[in-house]
Amino acid sequence: MKPISYEEIVKATGGQMEKNIEGEISGVSTDSRTIKPGELFVPLIGEKFDGHDFIKTAFERGAGASLCSEDRKYKISDLDFEKPLILVKDTKEAFLKLAKYYRSLFDIPFVAITGSVGKTSTKEMVAAVLGKRYKVLKNEGNFNNEIGLPLTIFRLDDHEIGVVEMGMSGFGEIRRLSILVRPKVGVITNIGVSHIEKLGSKENIAKAKLEIAEVLSEKDLMVLNADSPELYAKKGKLLPRTLFFGIEKGDLKAEDIVSLGQDGMKFRVIGNGIDFSVKIPFVGIHQVYNALAAVAVGLEFGLSVEEIQRGLIDAKPCKMRLEFKKSRTGATVIDDSYNASPDSMKAALRVLSELGKGKKKAAVLGDMLELGDYAADAHREVGKCAAAVTDILVCIGKHAVDLARGALEGGLSSRFIYTFSKKDEAIACMEKLVGDCDIILVKASRGMKMEEIVDFLVGRS
Ligand code: ATP
Ligand code: MG
Repeated sequence: MKPISYEEIVKATGGQMEKNIEGEISGVSTDSRTIKPGELFVPLIGEKFDGHDFIKTAFERGAGASLCSEDRKYKISDLDFEKPLILVKDTKEAFLKLAKYYRSLFDIPFVAITGSVGKTSTKEMVAAVLGKRYKVLKNEGNFNNEIGLPLTIFRLDDHEIGVVEMGMSGFGEIRRLSILVRPKVGVITNIGVSHIEKLGSKENIAKAKLEIAEVLSEKDLMVLNADSPELYAKKGKLLPRTLFFGIEKGDLKAEDIVSLGQDGMKFRVIGNGIDFSVKIPFVGIHQVYNALAAVAVGLEFGLSVEEIQRGLIDAKPCKMRLEFKKSRTGATVIDDSYNASPDSMKAALRVLSELGKGKKKAAVLGDMLELGDYAADAHREVGKCAAAVTDILVCIGKHAVDLARGALEGGLSSRFIYTFSKKDEAIACMEKLVGDCDIILVKASRGMKMEEIVDFLVGRS
């Protein structure tokens, strides 16, 4: 971060300095445990904690200044040392305002990526590609919300381009984040059924994601998945220029797709006067889509074919997303425990089906969360898909019976389907269930913490 003065913070947040002190901050932190000397502490109010309880700790650790919500001032009445405290109406709003101000100090383009699945994977690929020519700022890990994105913006320094993912669960969120980021290029990876509970339909999910387009001008670019019908329906109807990518159709298409097993995928990119081959170290046909989006962004920023090819080869697959590991018994464990939605479940099962033909396979699947009324049907559908690709199915959680029912409908014998309502019960007999399998896929939503099963299988617990 480039230092900013207390005065600038006061101006940007509409706050007030408690005592008139001059100085500047060298970073912004919302966590008093990891705050570094000279940084601004932003106490946020969460479900379990109120950051205002840690203002004193933050100063003791060397915080340069701290924000404080006016109505929480009573919490720091015992603050007995002279420190720069900036009173604001609401610390979260002030945090966003300050990030907006800080963003305005940099005249560099941003690429904003949203979509139902594949945001982080695409972000990694886009950043790796652009990194071949530019100094890129990207969000760390999955920092894609109203907290993570401002924190990313505050890391801006001598970067030439920014690449961020934007998450959402309802209307208005992408708009708010887009106004903060002010992208020049927007990417929507796909429209699936994540967050359908809140939004009601895939059309509404598309509408919410397309809020990015509202902040783009006609000179800017939207990169959209042509094989997501809700996006393709917008062809010719958006203000910014559009570029569609896809496997079935699109301006930029992938052809001759070859799976290289654990090593990733290889394919040709064709369209808009180009034709070249690329290799990606990401497994699964779904990652071909993500890579196409990265190619589109690379071309938009004038990168050469060779730079794009090298960037994609260097992109790093994300942890716990179809990550290959070895079990204690020598089996291949596909750790996809990071998260799950019906779309990513199907993508993972497809990978399982294409791997190690003739090998004995197991799928250890848990609940997909946040699906509302759609949950039972979605689990049944995934169970059905699983039946077609796995020899053994272990179902865990509240929707284990729905998964199992789908698998039975899909033709898997009940002898090979196991259901557990609790993960610990499943772990207790995991060895017996999947001990003789060659490939084991483990996947569920984040809240299920399925990495505990992976850790058990690979011998880390
Ligand atoms: P989150 O909403 O948690 O931030 P995300 O959109 O960033 O997720 P990733 O972290 O890239 O997505 O991937 C999440 C899961 O979805 C992984 O299991 C991954 O293999 C799968 N996935 C990634 N891209 C796609 C895609 N284009 N289609 C279907 N599944 C995908
Ligand atoms: Mg993500």
